[in-house]
Amino acid sequence: MQKVNDLINEVDEISLKHSFQDACSNNDFKAYVYNLNIPEEILIKYTSRLEEAFEECKNCATCKGLDTCKNKVPGYAYTPYGKDKIIEFSYDICKKQAEEDKKNAYQKNLELLEMPKDIKNATFKDMYKDDKARIPIVKYFKEFIDNYDNEEKPKGIYLNGSFGSGKTYLVAALFNEMAKKGVRSVLIYYPEFLRSLKASFQTNYDEQFNYIKKVPLLLLDDIGAENCSNWSRDEVLGPILQYRMENHLPTFFTSNLTLEELENSLAMTSNGVDKVKARRIVERIKQLTVSLELISKNRRN
Ligand code: ADP
Ligand code: MG
Repeated sequence: MQKVNDLINEVDEISLKHSFQDACSNNDFKAYVYNLNIPEEILIKYTSRLEEAFEECKNCATCKGLDTCKNKVPGYAYTPYGKDKIIEFSYDICKKQAEEDKKNAYQKNLELLEMPKDIKNATFKDMYKDDKARIPIVKYFKEFIDNYDNEEKPKGIYLNGSFGSGKTYLVAALFNEMAKKGVRSVLIYYPEFLRSLKASFQTNYDEQFNYIKKVPLLLLDDIGAENCSNWSRDEVLGPILQYRMENHLPTFFTSNLTLEELENSLAMTSNGVDKVKARRIVERIKQLTVSLELISKNRRN
């Protein structure tokens, strides 16, 4: 029996050797594996995995950027390491991916809820420079960044203006800048947030509500576009704003409506007209923000 086993081992070894030699007919592969400084009797056991690693190494040598990475796990290369009598393979991060990760690490501080993903990449650097309308807003944001560490936090802004003029983009660029400094923020598309909050009555309503109430920087995007109800005005918006006012948490709003128009819109709910309650909300917004306007051409395509 022993003899049979020996014979099988010998046949296996010969077949491993053959496939390794076949692979080594490619001189580049041969140079690659011998450069690893691993004895041949170990190399031959890993031919197909070494071929895979070699392909990835070749991809890296002709790399044209992360976008076109051909490796199995883009941004990583399958790499062999000799260890005693075996070879271990690992997916090693490439330099470009590592740089990209470092650049993006700060973005975990910026959370989007119900917002288009591309807004996460908004930066002042990439901003259109063709429109003077943005200057006062960018100036205010610069002051905001400079004063954020003061004991009294600067106010957010109420930014009203035409559809597609770039309101959301601007606030997202500020939040990105603040994220680099380690300040957490949430951008929420307000109408959708209300719907999602309503749907969470039986589940994590309190958790969602408190999270928004307490986050260091908050953007309520497109306020005034929601179907206003007594509940959304008096049980959601009111308490969020009250809490943020009392705790000096900068709060930002974008809207197609001026504050006056927003007040009218908040007054009218399906339960009737309540000007006092609407006025109270707008008073809180005024306490929390500096009011600015951005009228510009529609950037949406
Ligand atoms: P608004 O919130 O005023 O309706 P958005 O901020 O959503 O407008 O902007 C509309 C589109 O134009 C978005 O796709 C956004 O990424 C792009 N955009 C807006 N402002 C800029 C800017 N200053 N630089 C580059 N892209 C911008
Ligand atoms: Mg917007």
